[in-house]
Amino acid sequence: MACTRTVFLRLSCSVRDKWSPKALGCQVAWFSSSPAREQQEKKYDIVIVGGGCAGSAIANKFAPYLGQGKVAVVEPHETHYYQPMFTLVGAGIKDHKQTHTQTKDVLPDECDWIKDKVTSFDPNNNSVTTAGGDKLKYDYLLVSMGLQLNYHSVKGLEEALKEDPAVCSNYHWQHVKKTHPAIENIQSGNAIFTFPNTPVKCAGAPQKICYLAENNFSKAGKRDRINVMYNTSLPVIFGIPRYAAPLEEICKNRNITVNKRHNLVEVDHKNNRAVFQLLDTPTENVSFEYSMLHVSPPMSSPKELWGSSLVDETNFVTVNRDTLQHTKYPNVFGMGDCTNAPTAKTAAAISAQVGVVNKNLSLVMDGKQPTRKYDGYTSCPLLVGNHKVIMAEFGYDGSILETFPINQAKAMRSMYFMKVHFMPQLYWQMLVKGLWHGPGFFRKLFRFGVA
Ligand SMILES: Cc1cc2nc3c(=O)[nH]c(=O)nc-3n(C[C@H](O)[C@H](O)[C@H](O)COP(=O)(O)OP(=O)(O)OC[C@H]3O[C@@H](n4cnc5c(N)ncnc54)[C@H](O)[C@@H]3O)c2cc1C
Repeated sequence: MACTRTVFLRLSCSVRDKWSPKALGCQVAWFSSSPAREQQEKKYDIVIVGGGCAGSAIANKFAPYLGQGKVAVVEPHETHYYQPMFTLVGAGIKDHKQTHTQTKDVLPDECDWIKDKVTSFDPNNNSVTTAGGDKLKYDYLLVSMGLQLNYHSVKGLEEALKEDPAVCSNYHWQHVKKTHPAIENIQSGNAIFTFPNTPVKCAGAPQKICYLAENNFSKAGKRDRINVMYNTSLPVIFGIPRYAAPLEEICKNRNITVNKRHNLVEVDHKNNRAVFQLLDTPTENVSFEYSMLHVSPPMSSPKELWGSSLVDETNFVTVNRDTLQHTKYPNVFGMGDCTNAPTAKTAAAISAQVGVVNKNLSLVMDGKQPTRKYDGYTSCPLLVGNHKVIMAEFGYDGSILETFPINQAKAMRSMYFMKVHFMPQLYWQMLVKGLWHGPGFFRKLFRFGVA
């Protein structure tokens, strides 16, 4: 339905989509996208910028409690992706259809969904402005805008992703569709997997697909004709030594060449060549011919944040690493991939952040100081092939925060079951609904309350 009125338009979901699970009583509001209309101004108790994993979890915490029209979620996309499943789609384990649902189905009935993007922040005057020119005023702000994928930063990459079936990327909902066909199609030559020279979401994802592809090549009887190469900009295979050791071992045993400090800078798809800058001697490049190239792109915070007073010099939202409250604006919180909290950026990290932000924002709304502390919990289920997973779980400063009283640095089938079958349910049924606060409770329980 076209939205041309110059006021907030509220539509009942029973009119928009009578088969929606939210068909009864759902109120979705958005500003008109017509360029001719007048700009609007509206005030909310809480404005949430970004309705992805973190934003929808917090919207589901606060909107039902505060009531209709008190919480606004600004989110431009109609589709919500469960991004951790992209690895499984790339490997041919899950179907692309299982990765997504509609945004309106993860947001609570009581919030106003502003289907637009925020283009500027004015935290001194408690307002944000959208691309449509509308101003949203707030008492409290949550910034949960995720990461921006910068495929354009690698010369020739966007063209290669469009034109070359051998070039793929699990990081994007569209490019991930090319990964499994590329794995199936390669018959010989170099299969190259890259890790960029920027912060990334799920630092394990670039190598998970490498192990899964290698496993596929072996099963298909073509492994001896394919040279598997993992080219990473990092000086280590994984940032936590406890998990790096078994991963190094896997690469050695399975003859996967690991080229460290190699940063992809150009893809020349007409000549099947990938060019890498050698980060330890940055004026030097090295180029490899590829028969398959899986790219994890450079990433950054979303450009709308750059240069705002909410971010640090790296353009990530500056939060207190314990409370997730903004360091300069006490009525602002940051969550998820777009903050400078020094931990690995994952949906698992968000699960632990949900409880912290819920508690601390509630305290601040009551005029109190935040007390709940985030320990930096994050997790990376490292799929290594053969239906096995190393379940890395850690926190700030490399602390190990494993849930189960077993050696999680060992690749296990039980953890594969968790990753492939249990975690998608946990995400859809609990995390985005704000009902999952991470495994901290179970970690304590399994250790009889002592850890
Ligand atoms: C291939 C892959 C594998 C992964 N594997 C795992 C895994 O195994 N385990 C794990 O825990 N995590 C994994 N992750 C990471 C996980 O998916 C992310 O860390 C998580 O989704 C981040 O949530 P978020 O809310 O911070 O960002 P997102 O979920 O990305 O949401 C951010 C939202 O902000 C919106 N937005 C952006 N700019 C604006 C703007 N200007 N105005 C308004 N809205 C805006 C976007 O549209 C988006 O919907 C993986 C990710 C990928 C890509």
